[in-house]
Amino acid sequence: MSENPYRALPSVDRLLARDDVRAAGDAAADLVRQALESAREAIATGREAPSEDEIAEQIAGLAQLVLEPSLRRVINASGVIVHTNLGRAPLSEAAIEAMALVAKGYSNLEFDLGEGERGSRYTHLEPALRQLTGAEAAIAVNNNASALLLVLSVFAEQRAEDEAPREVIISRGQAVEIGGGFRIPDVMAQSGVRLVEVGTTNRTYLRDYERAITPQTAAIMRVHTSNFRVVGFTKAPSLQDLGRVAHEHGLALLDDLGSGCLLETAQFGLAAEPTVAQSLAAGADVCMFSGDKLLGGPQAGIIAGRGDLVEAARRHPLARAVRLDKTTIAGLHATLLHYLRGEALTEVPVWRMIAAPVAEIEARAKRWRRSLGSRAKVVEGRSMVGGGSLPEESLPTKLVSIASKGASKGAWVTDLARRLRAGEPPVVGRIESDALLLDPRTVAAAEDDGLVAAVKRALALREPQGERPSRASG
Ligand SMILES: *Cc1c(COP(=O)(O)O)cnc(C)c1O
Repeated sequence: MSENPYRALPSVDRLLARDDVRAAGDAAADLVRQALESAREAIATGREAPSEDEIAEQIAGLAQLVLEPSLRRVINASGVIVHTNLGRAPLSEAAIEAMALVAKGYSNLEFDLGEGERGSRYTHLEPALRQLTGAEAAIAVNNNASALLLVLSVFAEQRAEDEAPREVIISRGQAVEIGGGFRIPDVMAQSGVRLVEVGTTNRTYLRDYERAITPQTAAIMRVHTSNFRVVGFTKAPSLQDLGRVAHEHGLALLDDLGSGCLLETAQFGLAAEPTVAQSLAAGADVCMFSGDKLLGGPQAGIIAGRGDLVEAARRHPLARAVRLDKTTIAGLHATLLHYLRGEALTEVPVWRMIAAPVAEIEARAKRWRRSLGSRAKVVEGRSMVGGGSLPEESLPTKLVSIASKGASKGAWVTDLARRLRAGEPPVVGRIESDALLLDPRTVAAAEDDGLVAAVKRALALREPQGERPSRASG
């Protein structure tokens, strides 16, 4: 009779006696059982029994998955300022402090300290938001997608006399996908309003909107096409004209601004992104925008505009499902304060990056290059604003470009980028024409040393013997 392969497996006790398994702490016993279970399954399907060392290695892998934080700090050297995949806006020192302060203890989140009774979490942000946007009223919710869903749900609720679903008119060119499969038509359907698309992808006229108005119509919505641009033969009515038509028919004009800019972007040579105040002044009844794009705060969605509409959103049952937590309220308020004090360009990291002078970026790029050796050089390039704001818009910058001097440049640079991502801290750059590009604009000055050390390690790791980069002096 052949030997029973299950008997070759180490016992639970034997595994638990190993130092590398005990490193998993309290989770060790459970992970040992999981690993032995999968070893038995492997044997049952005719595979060879894993060795004790292989099982221990698997346990270490499982332990890492459970115990090590998956969400980590990353150095963004990609040159994309508002990078959705890298967590959008880094926060100001004041915002971080404000968040830590309310996180540490209790707060008057929903408590009126004057009256000693229940208060509202919506009171903390409204005065600052009103001051900055000129809106009659404003609330903040979980993100801009929630803001949209909530506002549209308010309109969906006001059924027409014949109980038909209320309609919201939108230009075909604005029924867009924002990213990650998030589509405006889907959000509208989810809210319960009926989407009425008018015009064509590239051209929509005022009369297209006018013709689509029926007794069921509740609102006209404009969506800022924030992540692409249709160029050439295009036409869209102005917000003023849309507002006039909407109000003549007793309808509301909703404006999904996407980024929700509070400062003029044109001062930095960028295309003019509509500011919230401009949109409201032009006739929008409600604006919706993100807290963590160009605003530069924590993840949030802001609804600002007509008092009765904002109040209806606040009272809607869905508001509870998309409400902000205390730390976000604190961080958002601290961010708004920077604008109120006129210090956003120096205190809000997103704006500090946009406003960074090229000479300053170049000086840092040169310092990086001096530490990185002969493979690195400083080249001209562009930084992107990103994050579904200012499509195609970029700022001049200086980049550190690293490329192989030998053959198979493409494989070399892909491998280098992979090593940088796998390092601690991970560094994300971008690859263009077989070179790795690192943009100082999106790297905080405090991260310079960490970045240079990480790149040096990644370069040293991948150099074959005798091909190490020579160190330039100075
Ligand atoms: C980014 C964006 C959204 C979604 O905002 P989130 O804050 O990511 O939920 C909605 N509309 C537009 C036009 C956007 O650019």
